[in-house]
Order: sequence, then structure tokens, then C-alpha cells
Amino acid sequence: MSAEQLDVTDPLGPYLEKFYRSEEVIAYLDGNSLGRPTKASVDRLAKFTTEQWGDRLIRGWDELWYDLPLEIGDRVGKVTLGAKPGQVFIGDSTTVILYKLIRTALDASPDRDEIIVDTDNFPTDRYLLEGIAAERNKKLVWLTAEHDEGVTPTQIANAIGANTALVVLSHVAYRSGFLADAAAITKVAHDAGALILWDLCHSVGAVPIALDEWGVDLAAGCTYKYLNGGPGSPAFGYVRSEYLETFQQPIQGWLGSTNPFEMGPKYQPHQGIRRFISGTPSIVGMLAMQDMLDLIEQAGIAQVRQKSEKLTGFAIELFEELLAAKGVKLASPRDPVRRGSHVTIDHDLFAEVNAALWKKGIIPDFRRPNGIRLGLSPLSTSFKEVEIGIKAISELI
Ligand SMILES: *Cc1c(COP(=O)(O)O)cnc(C)c1O
Repeated sequence: MSAEQLDVTDPLGPYLEKFYRSEEVIAYLDGNSLGRPTKASVDRLAKFTTEQWGDRLIRGWDELWYDLPLEIGDRVGKVTLGAKPGQVFIGDSTTVILYKLIRTALDASPDRDEIIVDTDNFPTDRYLLEGIAAERNKKLVWLTAEHDEGVTPTQIANAIGANTALVVLSHVAYRSGFLADAAAITKVAHDAGALILWDLCHSVGAVPIALDEWGVDLAAGCTYKYLNGGPGSPAFGYVRSEYLETFQQPIQGWLGSTNPFEMGPKYQPHQGIRRFISGTPSIVGMLAMQDMLDLIEQAGIAQVRQKSEKLTGFAIELFEELLAAKGVKLASPRDPVRRGSHVTIDHDLFAEVNAALWKKGIIPDFRRPNGIRLGLSPLSTSFKEVEIGIKAISELI
């Protein structure tokens, strides 16, 4: 089927109109780095400035904003994470939330001193773990996956033991797009008595997630990628309900304490998930993601996933047709079941090709040493955009 036919018959096609589209961008293929704004957010952000911030001023905290990080957290949990209420908060950057959750997990397992992580995990995860391992005197156990794959349950089973405190992995690998078997790996971790922390940055909003059902302990993820929260929108953290009264996080700020407005002499963690909040949350930053959550809920995450598989499948078909013979290599899994919503291709000329694409208003991204990532955001990317992008890459090589 042609790109045009695929767009016309796409049951989620009408959602393309729900996003602001710049005239000068012909094909946006980087929704996994920064999602497009929804039209609803254009409106919501403008109104917020006058009607909430402007009119309500400091009263807004009592009336509207104090519980917002937990209310939106519950919505993220319900719409995208398979999490019952009271386990998700919107807070700091992903990096800071990961720090808090890793430290929390290690403090909860003082007798175990190893952390399992993979060499292809996102840099922030690896750098944080190096720092925390030094700070807490723990040892990192590094796993290496195939270039176009990711970590498997068998690899974890072979590396884990009675000394493993924590396993930290990405659900979808940011480079290859490999979708890990989170349910099976979580079980392997638990069978060894270890905790697991999933980084969901590259899966949330594009891939169905069932944290409660899988028995996941801890998770965190970005909201500016497939949740279209805008540049620097705050991340979410998930802590399984059974731990909420015992786990304690290391950044003990006033807004996570029992009675913030008593300004008491000593820190006492608040009951429940609120204890994972540290300081004043970015209310402005958490506005836009609510509109994307509405769209994902309407469309249904199963349908979103179906479109994602079709988009990445179409990209791989075009790769075979136009790029494989020119020496371009596929660096993502061919099996749709093991693939998230982006496809990476490698070629030695891709740094130059990517720069030329950006000049034409065709926007994927380049990842060293030689990869172009095509990030296909299911509700906002058309099949036509995928075709424009791959044809342009073929012509440039
Ligand atoms: C994008 C991404 C991050 C980013 O962390 P920030 O603190 O938002 O900069 C972290 N982990 C993964 C896997 C990512 O894809």
C-alpha cells in the first residue's frame, strides 16, 4: 500500500489534525526526543497565564495546584502505565527522579551490594549509577547486548545473584529501539530477591505498560517524548504501593514532608507517594502533557501500539526497498513484537545526511557514531512523513 493509502485508511488518521504542525517542517521524525505540541495545549498554556496564574496568584496553590503532581501522576498511571492510583508522582527531571529511586532501592537492600545495568543504557542512567555506586560503595555489573538488540531475561538470569540489590534497565533502548520483555525480566529479578527499576522514557505513551500486573517495584520516565509535555516538562516516578510506607527517598524536601505548611523543626516523610516529591513542582511544566493523555486515552493505547507497529514496519519496508542496497544497515529489531516506536539505521555518511535533512525541514535525529533515528510518534506521525524522510535519505546518499 502507498503512504497515501495507509494514511487514508488509518483508523487513527484523524488524530494528525490534533497537533500543531509548522508549515516549514515537511516531515517530523523525532517525536521520541520531543513530541509536537497538541492544539489543545496551545490554548491551555495561553489560558493558564491569565486565568490561573494571573487571576488566582498565590491562591492558586490552595485551589488548583497543590495536588496536581499527584492527580496528573494518577492519570499517567491509568492511561499509560497500568498503575492503580496513589503510586505515581510528577516531579523533577528524569535524571533526578532516577537518582532518588536508585538511592531509595539501595537503602532498602543494605545487605546486597551489586547493581545490574547494561552498557547501552541511556547515558544519564549509566552516569548516575557510576556516581551512586561510588557514593554508596556498591558494584556495577555491566551487561552488553547486540548492537540491534537489547538485554534478554536469560542474560539477567546469568548475571543476577544473592548479592544483587537492583536491576536498572530501559524498557525500550534509546538507540536500537529494542523492547525488553519487562514482565519476564521483572520476574527474574524477583526470583533472585532483587528490586527492579524500569526507565520508561522511550516506551511510555507508545507501548502498552502494565507495571502493577508485572509486579514492577520502581519506574520513571520522560513526559516530553511520547507524552508531548513540551521541552523540559517534568518526569514521573512510580513506586509500588506496598513500599510506600517504608521506602524513603534521599532528597528530603519540605513538600514531601508530613505537614509542609507547619514549617516544623524536623523532616518527617509524608504518607504515601507524596513523600517522593522534594521541592516546589513545576506546574507550568505539567500543563501540556494532560492534553496528550486525553488523546491517548481516547484513541486507546492498544490502537496506538498497532499504529506504531505499522509505522515502524513501513519504515523498514522502505529501508529494504531504497536503502539496503546502498550500504545502509538496519540497527533495530525486525520483529515488531521486540520493537518500540523508533527505527535506527546506520551509515558512515549519516552525520552529513542528517544535517542536510534538517535544512530541508525533514527532522530525524543523528546518534553517534553513525545512526539516524526515525522516531515515529503514533498519533502525530503520518505514513507520508515516513516516506518523505526515507526517500530524502536515499537521494542524499
Ligand atoms: C530521554 C531519556 C532520558 C532523559 O533524562 P532527562 O533527565 O529528562 O534529561 C533518560 N533516560 C532515557 C532512557 C531517555 O531516553
